[in-house]
Amino acid sequence: MTHRRKIAAGNWKMFGVAADLPEVAAIAQAGRDLPEIVTLLCLPATLLSRAGADGLALGGQDCHAAAQGAHTGDTSAAMRADAGAAYVILGHSERRSDHAEQDADVAAKAQAAWAAGLTAVICVGETREDYEAGQTLDVLQRQVTGSIPADATPQNTIVAYEPVWAIGTGLTPTADEIQAVHAKLRGMLGAQVSGGEDISVLYGGSVKPGNAADIFGLPDVDGGLVGGASLKSTDFVPIMQALAQACSLGVNRLQTADRCGCIGRLQIHLHL
Ligand code: PEP
Repeated sequence: MTHRRKIAAGNWKMFGVAADLPEVAAIAQAGRDLPEIVTLLCLPATLLSRAGADGLALGGQDCHAAAQGAHTGDTSAAMRADAGAAYVILGHSERRSDHAEQDADVAAKAQAAWAAGLTAVICVGETREDYEAGQTLDVLQRQVTGSIPADATPQNTIVAYEPVWAIGTGLTPTADEIQAVHAKLRGMLGAQVSGGEDISVLYGGSVKPGNAADIFGLPDVDGGLVGGASLKSTDFVPIMQALAQACSLGVNRLQTADRCGCIGRLQIHLHL
């Protein structure tokens, strides 16, 4: 039996000021009604300490690899935790492209996050060129090897598969592609890390209320990392509900006593 957490994670990127906190409150309220999933909002640093609310977990969007020091403008993992975060996104493609972050940087940040008690949400994903050249799995293997330290565990790490070409574009891979890539990623994690096949693997890239149910119904998808559609509760709450629904469908169809939120492969919708 596996114990993969089911997670609806929002990434607010560099959006959101105090006037947007009612959206956080509305999402938290919905989260309280969906205890079978983890609702996570990764907010701008300026909002973290003001957003505390029952019903959701909070996360940062990056941290420095050092515990502290002369790094003007940077934020340490301990500072994220001090502001209320329990999670931190690392290696998002926008960090990799805007700040030239390499796999080794991401791995060092993961160690810093764990030292501060944070769960690392480590992002991997291929570019459009990689995808068109059929290099997706090679790129993912390189990123998994380089970005995810060997002492990762299902408790301290979540992996987000985010095809770069799907982020903010309205494009997504097909359901078959998502499932196939997630299954391969799970195999890579299992081969690299003790218990790695139980690490939750989220899909990210243009998840919307209209496609969430199909994506979350895939057996190796444990939830989503959602950018644009996490900014408004009217978009994000239906995505959270779709994940909770996928969990309950899985439980019903498997007719098992496993509890949603800690069950294994849902084995619904797709039989590849
Ligand atoms: C993201 O920011 O990680 C993301 C997946 O964005 P979007 O949902 O807008 O594509």
